[in-house]
Amino acid sequence: MRGRNLRGELDAFLAGSEQELIDFRRDLHMHPELAFAEYRTTQRIADRLIAAGLVPAVLPRGTGVICEVGSGDGPTVGLRADIDALPVPDEKDVPYSSTVPGVCHACGHDVHTTVLLGTSLFLAQQAEAGLLPGRVRLIFQPAEELPGGALEVMASGGISGVDRIFGLHCDPRLDVGRVGLKSGPITSACDRVSIRVSGPGGHTARPHLTADLVFALAKILTELPAALSRRVDPRSSLSLVWGRVEAGSVANAIPDDGVAEGTVRCLDEDAWHAAPDLIKGLLDSVAGAYGVEAHMDYIRGVPPVVNDPVSVQMLTEAAQGVLGDGAPAPTQQSLGGEDFGWYLESIPGAYARLGTRTPGSPHLADIHQGTFDVDENCIGAGVRFLAATALTALWEGQRPSSGEPLVSLNADN
Ligand SMILES: [Zn+2]
Ligand SMILES: [Zn+2]
Repeated sequence: MRGRNLRGELDAFLAGSEQELIDFRRDLHMHPELAFAEYRTTQRIADRLIAAGLVPAVLPRGTGVICEVGSGDGPTVGLRADIDALPVPDEKDVPYSSTVPGVCHACGHDVHTTVLLGTSLFLAQQAEAGLLPGRVRLIFQPAEELPGGALEVMASGGISGVDRIFGLHCDPRLDVGRVGLKSGPITSACDRVSIRVSGPGGHTARPHLTADLVFALAKILTELPAALSRRVDPRSSLSLVWGRVEAGSVANAIPDDGVAEGTVRCLDEDAWHAAPDLIKGLLDSVAGAYGVEAHMDYIRGVPPVVNDPVSVQMLTEAAQGVLGDGAPAPTQQSLGGEDFGWYLESIPGAYARLGTRTPGSPHLADIHQGTFDVDENCIGAGVRFLAATALTALWEGQRPSSGEPLVSLNADN
């Protein structure tokens, strides 16, 4: 990459396309669509890809687009953008404010979509010029916020044959032109658990003749989180926190049922896989000791996004190559969830944070707020970064297993 003047090629491409991309983003921003209802967005993406000579396919449910660029026997690299908006009212006073009441691109997915579209157009030019040593699978995924879109893509065969996948997300805490990178887990798992306990009920004068359900429920509420902290590696930060509890109606009657609901958050993939069985086992033992029946519903959210170190190295090289040596910034694991984690359960890859903050700007609206907006220079930076990432992964995917230096990375290519 160093020798190939990729920077210059991207400069030339963006000189002709950056304004179109900004306009595209503003159009999406004015017409946000919720998860699995992104019909207009899907049409806009597909139309632009077709105009560039590509052959996009719409996912079976009618929203989301998959398209491949390039050919040949080289590796296949996946690039994923999410395209859905949030049920959050737009509170910004800008010419491109949302025209849909109560719906807004408050998570920046309009930017992700536009960055991937720009990258697609650039890569299509590269393929036409015979400069793409493999294939790039462009995945415009619906319904990240629901979530469910990643599973829809996978069920449709969207990542079959993909060797490595990359995605990025707006980060308003990071200056535009910088990217946040981290090996290992970068987002967290968040599941829901709902427990119902039942027993015969009775008079509070005679708890020994029935099952003291409220007492048993209280034991479950305190014992389960406490026992979990002793059964799981503390580094996984598996935490069970209750948000709702309900039992009984009067002071002198032991009720016959009760409910507790909470969330399970977890930083670590192994602990996430083990959590449901572990919690069920603990629940059965506590409930059994007090003679009540317990039933648990465990509702899976998303796994943590666990970045593969080799893929993070590719992101680092790409960012340094086209954004500058100082572009990569260390970033922390967030407690938020992101359905990109589903892809990384199957194939290696990595997820990066894209700086969207105007340097020196005091304004710092976080994502999922109605005032969230980006410095639109992040679109050009994102295209440079994502295009360079795809090319780096293709070149490195070709690298001989002997560990010989890659010809394409040297000045003669
Ligand atoms: Zn979001
Ligand atoms: Zn998001």
